[in-house]
Amino acid sequence: AKELGKANFQFYTADMNAAVEERLAIKNGLLRAIELDELALHFQPKQDLNTGAITGVEALLRWNAADLGVVSPAKFIPVMEESGLMGRIGEWAIDAACRQYRSWTDRSMMAPRIAINLSVRQLRAPGFVEMVERILHRCGIGPEALEFEITEGMVAKDTKNAVALLNRLSDMGIRLSMDDFGTGTSSLSVIRIFPVDSIKIDRAFIADLGTDPDSAAITRTIISMGHSLRRRIIAEGVETKDQLDALRDMGCDEIQGYVLAPPLPAAELERVLMTLGNG
Ligand code: C2E
Ligand code: CA
Ligand code: CA
Ligand code: CA
Repeated sequence: AKELGKANFQFYTADMNAAVEERLAIKNGLLRAIELDELALHFQPKQDLNTGAITGVEALLRWNAADLGVVSPAKFIPVMEESGLMGRIGEWAIDAACRQYRSWTDRSMMAPRIAINLSVRQLRAPGFVEMVERILHRCGIGPEALEFEITEGMVAKDTKNAVALLNRLSDMGIRLSMDDFGTGTSSLSVIRIFPVDSIKIDRAFIADLGTDPDSAAITRTIISMGHSLRRRIIAEGVETKDQLDALRDMGCDEIQGYVLAPPLPAAELERVLMTLGNG
């Protein structure tokens, strides 16, 4: 038994080393990702369940590294956060989104509002709000171009400061939405103090909608609670027609997910918007 324990331990440390090495490779790759033009934004549409209109798109970072190949956000976003690269790459993402929006308006296309995911560190970095103003100004577009998706965790510490920053963005005319709602601990009270326009129900609840009565009950509760607080409710990760129908019955305002479209490069998104009758 002693021998086995030792062997297991060696396995364990070998796995740990592999994980550490992978993170290091990701970090080193990310350092050059902007210069090597390896980053891209993909865009996933959101649809109004009542009117069928496309209400906006969520921008999602994609990284195709020269040596590592396509790395999923689940792997590289945490490394970005820990290694202090979130600021630089986050700024790149906001700039890329604004340039994309400008390109749509330049071509007289329907330009859907672009939602960008925001991390706590990004929001709290000195000069963040000014940086956003500068990018909008440089691209010659207004605040109606942008939305930020934030999470409950953002107010966990130093709440006053975070809320003040969010209020400045909201006062500028940038929309805010509460992402991954229902997965945190502070759910209800957080909506009272956050200046968010909409709430996105986490896709874990949507995935279990047809099979788990509790997930359906939570979804229904978030929709009715959100509506009484005058927020729009968006369901994310909607994959099937059954889920879509259930959400419509529950009075959900908007959906996002594979049932409508996956996250797509801009050119492909433009084709989808055309077929959905919004082009
Ligand atoms: P998120 O903000 O919750 O984004 C939604 C995720 O669900 C995306 O994963 C999207 O591709 C995926 N998804 C969309 N529709 C469906 C569906 O119908 N079914 C399923 N199973 N999944 C669906 P992705 O692109 O891998 O991004 C993962 C996370 O990485 C995002 O979760 C977000 O937290 C983070 N992320 C991505 N881009 C950025 C960024 O530019 N900045 C920051 N701070 N975080 C980002
Ligand atoms: Ca999001
Ligand atoms: Ca989400
Ligand atoms: Ca998520």
